[in-house]
Amino acid sequence: MTAEMTDEVRQLRSAMKEFIDGEVIPREHEIERMDAHAGEVVEELKAEAKRRNLWALGHPAEIGGGGLPFMTFALLNEIIGRSEYGQVAVGSMTMQDSIMLHLYASPPQRERFLKPLVAGEISPSVGLTEPEVAGSDPTLMQTTAVLDGDEWVINGHKWFTSNGSRAAYCTVFAKTDPDAASKYAQFSAILVPTDTPGYEIVRQVPTMGHVGGDHCEIRYNDVRVPRDNLLGERGQGFTIAQRRLGPGRIFHCMRWLGQAQRAFELMVERANSRWAHGSLLKDKGEIQRYVAESAAEIQAARLMTLDAARAMDRGEQARVEISLIKFHGAQMLHNVIDRAIQVHGALGVTGDTPLERMYREARYARIYDGPDEVHRMVVARTLLAGGAPPWA
Ligand SMILES: Cc1cc2nc3c(=O)[nH]c(=O)nc-3n(C[C@H](O)[C@H](O)[C@H](O)COP(=O)(O)OP(=O)(O)OC[C@H]3O[C@@H](n4cnc5c(N)ncnc54)[C@H](O)[C@@H]3O)c2cc1C
Repeated sequence: MTAEMTDEVRQLRSAMKEFIDGEVIPREHEIERMDAHAGEVVEELKAEAKRRNLWALGHPAEIGGGGLPFMTFALLNEIIGRSEYGQVAVGSMTMQDSIMLHLYASPPQRERFLKPLVAGEISPSVGLTEPEVAGSDPTLMQTTAVLDGDEWVINGHKWFTSNGSRAAYCTVFAKTDPDAASKYAQFSAILVPTDTPGYEIVRQVPTMGHVGGDHCEIRYNDVRVPRDNLLGERGQGFTIAQRRLGPGRIFHCMRWLGQAQRAFELMVERANSRWAHGSLLKDKGEIQRYVAESAAEIQAARLMTLDAARAMDRGEQARVEISLIKFHGAQMLHNVIDRAIQVHGALGVTGDTPLERMYREARYARIYDGPDEVHRMVVARTLLAGGAPPWA
């Protein structure tokens, strides 16, 4: 798969690696604190990424991005993912939202939300999940939006709205058509600026990780927005959510590859330098097994991810391919970081290496954008119903 890379992609990867390893990784400890200084560091890194022409490379070209094809971006995102903060620094964290707006936003919505998003001037958020009902079955969502004259009036309770307190707006998914025959046609997507009266941040929910530790619980108390803030068509909420989540899941998997590769490098370094029981760790069969299994899992996930990206480039929905890598990639990430921690012994659970932070982040991966079980269900149901497997 590496042999397929053009010289241009190789050069881009090499420039990105220089930026991520040379500029972003050395500043991770500053960003991790999530204070005012962290915000300044992120702005400095964003400016540097722009200066090096590494900004927003995967966003569609028509809206000011680099317009890289999915596959090329996959190969680049593997490098960006080496640092959990890479995606913020190079503007790729907002890609799923910019793709969604690019597909569905009206001209005024593009001006107001999409342009500043791609320029890195504002951050988005998305409100699907609600504490009272299972997020893995979004047809259960209870938030409502009712038309009153020329305004939508939104009432509901969301949580895990990532970036909730920093975002300029939230794409809120709400029930607008409870009488629609299909439960999938009952929901719509509405753009809600976060300074709208009634948008109440109850709290930033404490979680086990650091990155984007801004997972908010939010109440919508008679939130009124203009009718024109509807994104796409009324009743199209599920289609819009899927169009955002599909590419988003591939982006996650690509980043996870970068994280796993970095953990792998740390594991190899430690195995080559730590001495115990008469030899270096690298000479122990158990440790060699960790290295070999990790290499196999990373490469398998990598090929599966690139296969899914290729299917997306062909214009396919690639539902089976995406669900396969979502659960397989998340498990791979967990396994590789876990082994790297083990090889580091006590050092592995300290803040002196990035591994403990990476491990906590990796745990999220098996839940967000659909838990493992749901993705396994999608794959199994499709294949059992006679759907084509990815190799067919
Ligand atoms: C770090 C992080 C960031 C997030 N960011 C956002 C965000 O920005 N916006 C947003 O709207 N949401 C966000 N989420 C929420 C996330 O999408 C949901 O947590 C997820 O969809 C699962 O919903 P739930 O938590 O309600 O779990 P539930 O739906 O209650 O599921 C709980 C468990 O039940 C099991 N389960 C569920 N369905 C099945 C099944 N069919 N078969 C077998 N077992 C099953 C699984 O083990 C699952 O983990 C985020 C979550 C995390 C952890």
